[in-house]
Amino acid sequence: MQQTLRLGKIFGIPVGIHYSWLFIFLLVTFSLATQYFPADSPRWGTGVYWLLGVVTSLLFFGSVLLHELAHSVVALARGIPVKSITLFVFGGVSQISKDAPSPGEELQIAIVGPLTSLALAGIFWGVRQAGISPQVNSMAWLLSLINLQLAVFNMIPGFPLDGGRVFRSVVWRIGGDYRKATRLAALVGQGFGFLFILGGVLWAFGAIPGLQQNLVSGLWFALIGWFLQSSAASSYGQVRLRDALRGVRAQDLMARDCALVSPNMTVRELVDHHVLPMSRRCVVAADSEDRLLGLVTLRDIRTVPRERWDITLVREVMVPRERLVLAGPADEAVLILERMDESDVSQVPVVQDGKVVGMVGRDNVLHYLRTRSELGF
Ligand SMILES: [Zn+2]
Repeated sequence: MQQTLRLGKIFGIPVGIHYSWLFIFLLVTFSLATQYFPADSPRWGTGVYWLLGVVTSLLFFGSVLLHELAHSVVALARGIPVKSITLFVFGGVSQISKDAPSPGEELQIAIVGPLTSLALAGIFWGVRQAGISPQVNSMAWLLSLINLQLAVFNMIPGFPLDGGRVFRSVVWRIGGDYRKATRLAALVGQGFGFLFILGGVLWAFGAIPGLQQNLVSGLWFALIGWFLQSSAASSYGQVRLRDALRGVRAQDLMARDCALVSPNMTVRELVDHHVLPMSRRCVVAADSEDRLLGLVTLRDIRTVPRERWDITLVREVMVPRERLVLAGPADEAVLILERMDESDVSQVPVVQDGKVVGMVGRDNVLHYLRTRSELGF
């Protein structure tokens, strides 16, 4: 949530906007106030155009928020925790922390978003039909179209869009295999991404018969395609990593040659006798019975100026046990990687009965996978 502005909580879910949204908000308001509304009716006057522009942008924002809230509320009702909702350039992202336990639940959580957008399109269409004033009609018509577009775009059957999740739940229900379904939905998502990029570039250069050249729209389309393609590719990568690490536990890939040092050793001794000669990247501070007291990383050592190495003790630079993310030897590698991502650390000490038995770092995981693929399995 670093690049987001926190707005508050709804149903206990933190809601924020990505800073890119502020830019989009200004861009949308500006183009509505200076182009769309003046073109729609040339006699309303500048003040009215800007008022309509701001109100329309806010209602657009509210529409995207309602779409995301719908996903979150259904997820919460099914007992699946929602970490946060973030609105950004292309819409919103609900951080639902777990995958749905069954295809039926996944389908409900996914489809309720586009259905909400569709309902909003209907409501705005109804407002326009009510004929309150020409200004309200113009605004309601535009919001109806925008919500319809949101519903249609999100129903593209490529992961990670809502339509991709719907598609995955159907394939999952039919084939009974969650991983295969995810893989297929991610591949379809990448396919749509490439199609959008290709279509957008052709449009930008006027190479689509029957469609007038439009550089901005074409590039915008290609950008959406690129976003789709890369997010589908990264979810595919995550699925492959999970597949490759299925059944692999901490004890299978942890480094076992950690240096166990006393917390009362100086940093100079540590570097001269343990880090440099053994080229060890993993140093653990432990008591005389190998019980974990803290972790020392090269990054921690670097924070101490060299002239202070003789007078600084390991206990002063180590990350103490209470602040460490720990694992047991039988913990699954996938779960350890998730914990590393959540707490933004790159090393997790493996502890059994309070004693340090090894260390899992990202490089251990990669090394394990590379070795296994070189061995041909
Ligand atoms: Zn959605």
